[in-house]
Amino acid sequence: MGTTVFERHPAAASSIATMLEGSRLDPFWTDDAPGPERPRLSGSHRADLVIVGGGYSGLWTAVLAKERDPHLDVVLLEGRRVGWAASGRNGGFCEASLTHGRENGESRWPDEIDELDRLGMENLDQIEATVGRYSMDVDWQRAGALAVAVEPHQLEWLEGDGVLDAEATRALVNSPTYLGGQLSPDDTALVHPGKLARELARVAEQLGVRIFERSPVTALEDGPVVRTRDGHVRAGKVALATNVFTSLLKRNRLMTVPVYDYALMTEPLTPAQLAEIGWEGRQGVADMANQFHYYRLTADDRLLFGGYDAIYHAGGRVKASYQDRRESYEKLASHLLTTFPQLDGIRATHRWAGAIDTSTRFCAFWGTARGGDVAYSLGFTGLGVGATRFGANVMLDLLAGEQTERTRLRMVQERPLPFPPEPVASLGINATRWSLDRADHREGRRNLLLRGLDAVGLGFDS
Ligand SMILES: Cc1cc2nc3c(=O)[nH]c(=O)nc-3n(C[C@H](O)[C@H](O)[C@H](O)COP(=O)(O)OP(=O)(O)OC[C@H]3O[C@@H](n4cnc5c(N)ncnc54)[C@H](O)[C@@H]3O)c2cc1C
Repeated sequence: MGTTVFERHPAAASSIATMLEGSRLDPFWTDDAPGPERPRLSGSHRADLVIVGGGYSGLWTAVLAKERDPHLDVVLLEGRRVGWAASGRNGGFCEASLTHGRENGESRWPDEIDELDRLGMENLDQIEATVGRYSMDVDWQRAGALAVAVEPHQLEWLEGDGVLDAEATRALVNSPTYLGGQLSPDDTALVHPGKLARELARVAEQLGVRIFERSPVTALEDGPVVRTRDGHVRAGKVALATNVFTSLLKRNRLMTVPVYDYALMTEPLTPAQLAEIGWEGRQGVADMANQFHYYRLTADDRLLFGGYDAIYHAGGRVKASYQDRRESYEKLASHLLTTFPQLDGIRATHRWAGAIDTSTRFCAFWGTARGGDVAYSLGFTGLGVGATRFGANVMLDLLAGEQTERTRLRMVQERPLPFPPEPVASLGINATRWSLDRADHREGRRNLLLRGLDAVGLGFDS
């Protein structure tokens, strides 16, 4: 089996140790942008709309519901703190794609892909307009995305507009690993994920939404009534925005699994370090392997470097103990220095992991329950920063019983296949991961398992 550039040029053990020494096991984004504390739900309440979940899905649902009808009485219930989960741990790549890339969407809904791309671009533009309208302090930058080939076989995957040779790619961002690249200037913005959650909550409250924290919903009863340990809300309608956490609807329990993704944040780069890398356009960068890295600069010139290892823990739970995986952080530290040897000696201030909301079709799905009084939007599979806003609009369309250009989509009407129950899920997911890693070591060639998964529409090529 071949090796990857990251194995051919690993960083020195001492540089890896220096980078990780002193880093905090805590997401940088929420540490950098803590939000105000909110009360727990207690006692008996009523609301026209109850939203469960205070990540981007729930927060966008709250904001859009009030924009559609300012008189609607809206309550949002969050089990812990607003934005503590994936919404406060992600890379902040706010992409137009609703389908986790055109290729995934095109293979599933070839007749709809142009419309899906148009709706995705409109969604991104509307996020930008919302940021402007409410003066949201989220470090918004429509910087674009740069995909980089770091192995010769990946050059064949570069096609269409914006393809760059090695020299042109390195003129944008100077890494010795780059053999070529592709720049898409319009379809990606970068945001500060923690600030986005905090600001969406601020705007929701400004529009009159009541937000309760530390109020996990324990039951969804007929009525519908949404129950927490100390209180309940009798709701007109309920929007479930609970992502990868145990669904309040039995039918969705096998529809998403958490796959852990790891990230490092460095101290701010010095002007000299930045000058060596270039990166004046500050694009979001991702390399093109099946197991890929994503990286970007923050407004204060830190480097976020994440991805590659995607770990599924048998049982499919979200647990704090899964975050501390030394070997994943060491791998990331080494790969960061393979990518940017100019940064040898740099320190990480934060390291953390988050659960990727994986569905079998690698993009979100929707549906209703309880006679149309309950709707859900789940399964963004690691590309939900932008798409959760679209998903929130779909939930509101469904709850209103409205036919819209969104609800008419096959993508919205079709439900994906569930994951198999344990222990088959662990076996299948880990075999797929092993196969993806092996494909990256064999010039991208996909083994029988991956080709079999491709054939039944479960395949995934990042
Ligand atoms: C490490 C990492 C990097 C990523 N990078 C990117 C990226 O760069 N670009 C991109 O587009 N996407 C990225 N993603 C994916 C993106 O972060 C998610 O798709 C998105 O944040 C999902 O938002 P959400 O609101 O659906 O879920 P979450 O943010 O997970 O929020 C769900 C909320 O529901 C609450 N909840 C669950 N059950 C209950 C209950 N019973 N009662 C009350 N509350 C409940 C939880 O406490 C949680 O706060 C990344 C994800 C991770 C983990």
